[in-house]
Amino acid sequence: LPGGLGDYTVCVDHVVSGGGGCLVFRDGVLVEVREEPSGLIVFDFRGRGSRALPGFADIHVHLRGLGLAYKEDEYTGSAAAAAGCVTLVADMPNTVPELRTPGALAVKLSWLSRLSVVGYAVYAGVPREAWMARVMASQGAAGFKVYPEDVVGGGSRLCAALRAAEEVGLLVVLHPEHPALFSPDWGFLRGLYSRPCEAEAAAVEELAEAMEECGARPRVHVTHVSCPLTAAKAWRHGFTVDVALHHLLADWRFEEAAGWCRAKVNPPLKSHLDVNGLLQELASGRVSCLASDHAPHARQDKNGNPAACAPGFSWLEWWALAAYRMLSRSLGVERAVDLLSREPRRILGAPQAGIEPGGSPSISIVLEDRVDTHPRGYSRGVNNPFHPLPAAVCGATIVRGRLHYLHPGALLAGPGSGEREAPPLH
Ligand SMILES: [Zn+2]
Repeated sequence: LPGGLGDYTVCVDHVVSGGGGCLVFRDGVLVEVREEPSGLIVFDFRGRGSRALPGFADIHVHLRGLGLAYKEDEYTGSAAAAAGCVTLVADMPNTVPELRTPGALAVKLSWLSRLSVVGYAVYAGVPREAWMARVMASQGAAGFKVYPEDVVGGGSRLCAALRAAEEVGLLVVLHPEHPALFSPDWGFLRGLYSRPCEAEAAAVEELAEAMEECGARPRVHVTHVSCPLTAAKAWRHGFTVDVALHHLLADWRFEEAAGWCRAKVNPPLKSHLDVNGLLQELASGRVSCLASDHAPHARQDKNGNPAACAPGFSWLEWWALAAYRMLSRSLGVERAVDLLSREPRRILGAPQAGIEPGGSPSISIVLEDRVDTHPRGYSRGVNNPFHPLPAAVCGATIVRGRLHYLHPGALLAGPGSGEREAPPLH
């Protein structure tokens, strides 16, 4: 079944926040929602706290691949997404080589189309030379990712990327840490001293100033915001904001409990006051969406000197189900769906995943009554310090109408079954 299963029926206790029903699919099209199942192949999840939700989308992942395939590649990473009920991922350009030239971007897009088993998008880096920006904006990237070094050193290349993004309607995604405010990294209290909140706020201001100087007004999204002040500043400029789940789960004390390298991430974990502040921003609606910042590493990269070991966590199989459990219980099902599906899709410019007959929606079927603490092992990444963390179970993952994953570990779709969703292929 290289493209996933197309003819089947899935029965659930709830469709989003409404009553239950059976979703009948024919050749990947949702033809009707009825009370009783129909057809030969039926997956009946009723009586298990099952809920069909617009497919989860993760706006910030590192699928690696190319020269970093020993850490993860487009197949292992997207298979992990499918097993974690994530139907769409947006891949970051800090690969080897970095996606800062039209050639590197073309190679990355071709690997994604050959290997991904869920919907995908990819960001380009700020180009190596200014003239490349327009070429890369037309190649199929969803936007440009601006890293700390681009905020200060970007110059005319940053201007070219901002203008090209505005012209073509692409997103600009900011990693909000201004290197001028970094202190030497001693491997402890990183969040408070080495890469503090002031560096985040300064990066947002610096990008806003660069936009003024370049005369460009692209859509801007500030990713993995770890301080409440950053979210406030971003909103003032009209930028959207995501928070990575780990910045809501733990403060810097977790570094000592989990081990400096295991808990190392950029931006680093901050103080408990910042965690509380971010939770308040989330509750008051000033966080647009959540993301994983899935950053898989091999064992040897996560060991050794805390100042030199690789930052990031690997949890694409898992984070959205943990986030859904937390958000649906505190803010309700509809708000959880906003944060995990509707808003990230809107920000990316990807199609919505509304569960209505006549379309081919992407759907996450979650089992709320059960708790999962074990990743399925699709990802190559071994660095998940939050294991075990209670999460809903992924009953099934439907990508554009076709069944790609079925509990408890069956991947039903092959490499290349996922399509580019932002900008859409057709
Ligand atoms: Zn990242």
